[in-house]
Amino acid sequence: MAKRIRYLDRNQEPTLKPKERIKTFKEYQLGFSPNLALDEADRCLFCKDAHKRCIKGCPINIDIPSFIRKIKEGDILGAYEVITQTNPFPSICGRVCPQDKQCEGSCILYYDTVRDKKNKGLPVAIGSLERFVGDVVRLLGIEVLPKVKEKNGKRVALVGSGPSSLACAYELLLRGYETHIYEALPFAGGVMAYGIPSPRLSKEIIEWEVERLKKMGAKFFFGVLVGRSVSFKELLEKYDALFLGVGAGRGKLGFKGDHLKGVYSAIEVLQRVNSFGKGIDLGKRVCIVGGGFTAVDCAIVCLRLGLETHIVYRRTKEFSSARAVEWEHLQEDGAIMHFLTQPVEILGENGRVKALKCIKMELKGRDESGRPKPVPVENSEHLIECDSVIFAIGQEANPLVFEELDLERNKWGLIKVNERFQTSIPKVFAGGDAIRGGGTVAKSISDGRKAGKFIDEFLKNG
Ligand SMILES: Cc1cc2nc3c(=O)[nH]c(=O)nc-3n(C[C@H](O)[C@H](O)[C@H](O)COP(=O)(O)OP(=O)(O)OC[C@H]3O[C@@H](n4cnc5c(N)ncnc54)[C@H](O)[C@@H]3O)c2cc1C
Ligand code: SF4
Repeated sequence: MAKRIRYLDRNQEPTLKPKERIKTFKEYQLGFSPNLALDEADRCLFCKDAHKRCIKGCPINIDIPSFIRKIKEGDILGAYEVITQTNPFPSICGRVCPQDKQCEGSCILYYDTVRDKKNKGLPVAIGSLERFVGDVVRLLGIEVLPKVKEKNGKRVALVGSGPSSLACAYELLLRGYETHIYEALPFAGGVMAYGIPSPRLSKEIIEWEVERLKKMGAKFFFGVLVGRSVSFKELLEKYDALFLGVGAGRGKLGFKGDHLKGVYSAIEVLQRVNSFGKGIDLGKRVCIVGGGFTAVDCAIVCLRLGLETHIVYRRTKEFSSARAVEWEHLQEDGAIMHFLTQPVEILGENGRVKALKCIKMELKGRDESGRPKPVPVENSEHLIECDSVIFAIGQEANPLVFEELDLERNKWGLIKVNERFQTSIPKVFAGGDAIRGGGTVAKSISDGRKAGKFIDEFLKNG
């Protein structure tokens, strides 16, 4: 029998073949079977100092070795209980977290060999194991509801139903609060539902988690745009505290030629395709500008709509917020990558996009964030012919909340909070992308849960 090389023999989730997956909006990563999960759990070294490694790398600080040990013992329900002590939504995070930059990026199997680049080890597939645990419980229809305290007579309103609000609601429900969630869209989940396309995260999973919250006592009010349908001030009068989980959902444009027909923000495209079917005229060739989660998700959608799909990014994929495996999938699916390429202008004909003018870049020195700085290469101007351009270069603050509430802003123009997630108005708290701009699902969950605890302290102690 071949000797097992623990560093390198990481199990992969079975995946639909490129030819099949490109035709469907169904999930294409299929999750671990019980055998694969047991085998992968066996790779964990159960490090004594995991709190300095994978647990620290996870924004929600899940007790990773303990839940993996439970899988190893065949106690999947036990593993679910360990995970949900900190993360209420394992099936979601297991699918969408950029694990290579969070938990798995700090796994000793990876970390201890990372200095010797030629022999980089492969971390334990923590995300796939977490997904496995969440999926087993969901697919077997096991109802595991946490114990909630008796109602304490206090009410909290949450604006938005993205991961930060859902996690904050979970925390408040555990502590006996009446919890009302106001959402502008007709469904819950925020970006997870309207942004991340179903090939990466099936809508059923979000619906299942929302049903769980409802069973715990959460009330949802859909189609209510706070600031228009009802005012923020009315909510402030009616409730003991307010949590703003409004995200940063306004896509950035601001580019020479962005008035042309065929120019869209990523959020506009994803929202229209994910929520309402196709219904958007992108022509036959599309250029997606950007290199993070949002760009990757736009490419997934465009490839499935049968378009020639170009991704134009001024850095390399190593500096992207998206998972490495997703770049690999896009390459297999036929996306055309233009790394180290900066668009400078959109060219048009008869009012419609015709091409994207770009220059080549090289990485030199470091920028403010510590990442290598892209600088233009002389005489490198070139055109990429296309019928549409999608901007996936980040989101801006949602302006509505500032129209009515006199909230202080932070240096990015977003809602300013203190270390207790409290805004400049004492009974108003905020978290997620509304305070940090581009975050991750796990960071938003972490914000929401912490904010829930601080709201509880505030309402108890003032
Ligand atoms: C396309 C895309 C793909 C991404 N992919 C990933 C990924 O794979 N992994 C990952 O970890 N992170 C990913 N992210 C980042 C992650 O989704 C966000 O960090 C996270 O969703 C932020 O959560 P949130 O609760 O702050 O707000 P959001 O998810 O933005 O939700 C805010 C909600 O508030 C509602 N709302 C706003 N204003 C009002 C109002 N006035 N009244 C009522 N409702 C209101 C909105 O309709 C929305 O539903 C992605 C982001 C984008 C844009
Ligand atoms: S929540 Fe995300 S970062 Fe944390 S352990 Fe799970 S997959 Fe890793």
